[in-house]
Amino acid sequence: MKQEIKQLTFSFHPILFAIFPVISLLSENMHLLLPSEIFFPISLFVVVSICIWAILYLIFKNIVKTSLITSLSFFLFFAYGHFASIVYDLFFQETTFKEHLILLSIFLGIIIVISRFIVKSKHSLHNASLITTIIGISILLFPILMIATYSSEQTSFIDDENTPIFSSMENSNEIQKPDIYLIVLDSYPDEKILNNLFDFDNSEFISFLSSKNFIIPEKTFSHYHTSFLTITSLLNLDYINHLTVDVGENSKNRFQAYKMIDQNKIMKITKSQGYVNINIDSGWEATRYISSADLNLCGKNQFLNSQTIVMMIKNSMLNPVYVKIFESDYRNRITCSFNSISTIQNETKQPVFVFAHIFLPHGPYYWGPNGEYNIPTKATLEGFHKDKTGFTDQLQFTNKKVKEFVTKILDESETPPIIILFSDHGTMLTYDDHISEDFIFERMSNIMYVHLPENNLESLNNNPSSINLLRMISNNYLNQEFLYLEDKYYFSDDKKPYRWLDVTDFLLKNEKIDTNFFN
Ligand SMILES: [Zn+2]
Repeated sequence: MKQEIKQLTFSFHPILFAIFPVISLLSENMHLLLPSEIFFPISLFVVVSICIWAILYLIFKNIVKTSLITSLSFFLFFAYGHFASIVYDLFFQETTFKEHLILLSIFLGIIIVISRFIVKSKHSLHNASLITTIIGISILLFPILMIATYSSEQTSFIDDENTPIFSSMENSNEIQKPDIYLIVLDSYPDEKILNNLFDFDNSEFISFLSSKNFIIPEKTFSHYHTSFLTITSLLNLDYINHLTVDVGENSKNRFQAYKMIDQNKIMKITKSQGYVNINIDSGWEATRYISSADLNLCGKNQFLNSQTIVMMIKNSMLNPVYVKIFESDYRNRITCSFNSISTIQNETKQPVFVFAHIFLPHGPYYWGPNGEYNIPTKATLEGFHKDKTGFTDQLQFTNKKVKEFVTKILDESETPPIIILFSDHGTMLTYDDHISEDFIFERMSNIMYVHLPENNLESLNNNPSSINLLRMISNNYLNQEFLYLEDKYYFSDDKKPYRWLDVTDFLLKNEKIDTNFFN
């Protein structure tokens, strides 16, 4: 009896190895993941490990041996992605299913050989079990310590900035306000970039938009280099450089920015003006679900939406098929997004404010020019930045869907709507592990194509910068009184997103900048 208790005490390590990948992932991505996100994956993997363990126990009837096999399998299963990326860097230029097949066979071979050895062993393996338990506890200590330190360092800084929002409920008899569609097409580059870098002529699409009275500024730039910074700034109608002071120049923490997206200013303004706010689930953390929205659409599959699960599967032995796993979910969401944008105005009598952050033409490239399904040949989701044809094919599909909904919305709206086609940043074809002037110019070149009820708004033609776009719209259509801001552009890199170089004169006046700031 005493012996059995001892066996059990030191055989619980499969649970340690089941929770380790989640805890470790969280500790490495504290700036991206919310601690609450890990409860579901932890419970899931603990249940799975217990099931595997129970099945093995029923077969081999030995608790010590089966627990060792379960721990080993879990460890190798979740370590696979890391090994694959090391092998990828060392030996292969690209990892296709063939390379994965070789590596997977090796991994499975190791599991089978060691498991056989464990099963056949004449020893009780108590010591092995004890050592495995100690290893299991030790590897958990470091990430737990990191999480604890990080959590204690982060305080909540959310300053409820108090720009007055003017409410206009008293003049409810006025004519119907225009529906507002703010469509962020992730990484959509301007016509010149497409011509010069991608050898692609986008003039047919631009002509279409012009024929629908869109204002097409000659050249626009995003104010920041990456989605989370640009979208935070856009939705809050302001620069966000104060975040450097709040989170620190060396920080990668995104909580405050995400919170600013979740509680954004533009939706407070539209709400105060009697609008129904609608967010379309982007599938990406910060714009998946927005609390300020009255409705969040197209996010049916919250399980596959979990950033934690996506990263776990990517690092596991399911890595080769993970593109496949998320493919149908991704496609359904894109289809749902465009359908919702075209039809939502019919669902309510109130004016609608629709925000949709759509991962098009951003890779991976699932769509051909006419919407035919592509199966990305690469087994990973990285490395698509250099694929010119994949990109321009998906761009043509994006154009096709945009044309469809623009035509439908303009035809069916009783009051002419506001439609903004905006990209949060440009492409990264010229990026080569080194930040150059060419790359900064390419990355910051975005689009801002705008349809307004009267297409004679000089303020937009004179000052085509997105920092003032929603201010101008708020002043003209939503009874606000914003001042206009000076045009400024800030570049930072992903390593230190809050450490900015002012690139305004470089972008607008072609003046030199010191790229040593980053390299
Ligand atoms: Zn983006």
